[in-house]
Amino acid sequence: MLAYLEEHLPPQTPLPFSGLLAYETKCLSCANISRSPSPFQILDAPLSSLTGDPLPSLDDAFLSLLRHERLDGLNQYSCGACGQKSDALRGVVYQRMPNVR
Ligand SMILES: [Zn+2]
Repeated sequence: MLAYLEEHLPPQTPLPFSGLLAYETKCLSCANISRSPSPFQILDAPLSSLTGDPLPSLDDAFLSLLRHERLDGLNQYSCGACGQKSDALRGVVYQRMPNVR
């Protein structure tokens, strides 16, 4: 069904039960925020932390989706706005959740 809708609806038509998220990177030198919006139908909540420890609850799994990672050291961000390599925060921002009521 989903494949049929994706094939037959115009590209800008939101699919039923789809949400909108944005991959976001904030330069900590100039405060510029770069965003790449993307529709989603599924949230992949992790079962363990980045260190491999199991997350104690489903709430913790969903909260981990909201955390931003810091890009620093060898992973510094090349900012297109200020033209420097700088520390940055990268993560996902949920802009619209699916209408599942
Ligand atoms: Zn910058």
